[in-house]
Amino acid sequence: MVDFGTERVAPAEKTRRVRGVFDAVVHRYDAMNDIMSLGSHRLLKSVAVEMARLRPGKRVLDLAGGTADVAVRASRQVRDASGDAPGVVLVDINRAMLRAGRDRALDRGCAALAFAQADAAALPFADAAFDAVLVAFGVRNFADQPAALAEMCRVLRPRGVAVVLEFATVGNPLLARAFDAYKAAWPLLGRVVAGDAAPYRYLVDSIRTHPDQAAFRAMMEDAGFADVECHDLLAGAAAIHRGFK
Ligand code: SAM
Repeated sequence: MVDFGTERVAPAEKTRRVRGVFDAVVHRYDAMNDIMSLGSHRLLKSVAVEMARLRPGKRVLDLAGGTADVAVRASRQVRDASGDAPGVVLVDINRAMLRAGRDRALDRGCAALAFAQADAAALPFADAAFDAVLVAFGVRNFADQPAALAEMCRVLRPRGVAVVLEFATVGNPLLARAFDAYKAAWPLLGRVVAGDAAPYRYLVDSIRTHPDQAAFRAMMEDAGFADVECHDLLAGAAAIHRGFK
């Protein structure tokens, strides 16, 4: 059994419900990210991409890439002299999110991305296929996080880098209470802006049950990553874990 928000469910049931969450929010996904984070998710994603130290010609996997925010940023860094970035692949389990990501990438002049619909726990790529794997706000939603981390490690070349951006645990008790109070407004915002509060209730609950920074670092090490570092962002409201194969 695994966490789905505050409930314990079978892994297949979590996958089914998470699909329902993103089917329900896809039409307002980007707007809600901007509203809930007051735009800060853009900065966090840029920091995550910087931490992957990408260069032209690198092969990059944006896992759980959704509406392509990370893939588009990555593609700007790995473009070759022709302006193409054929090495960036966006994977997501949700067809509607993938479609939104493809449309958005095209709107931003980024035509060279590749897209694949797949579960993070069973990636359709050869061993050592990528120089970098990035996941932004995806891991919390995976039904089998250890299997997904092991797959990330498998598809990386030796010394390739994994960068995981995710909500995390605020250490300072006062700031933690303030962040909890702030998050409590998200379901209401969801109802007003996206017409549905339930996906945002799941969002808040899934943040609460996600492993803290130390536990997640241990999970990355268990999956085979070395030299794992954790960098708190926004006082620990989010964190970036970076590890090497
Ligand atoms: N990375 C994007 C961003 O930061 O805006 C999207 C993040 S969104 C919160 C989480 C994404 O994870 C959704 O698009 C969802 O479909 C995807 N996802 C959930 N479970 C997945 C799985 N098992 N394998 C691949 N993608 C998954």
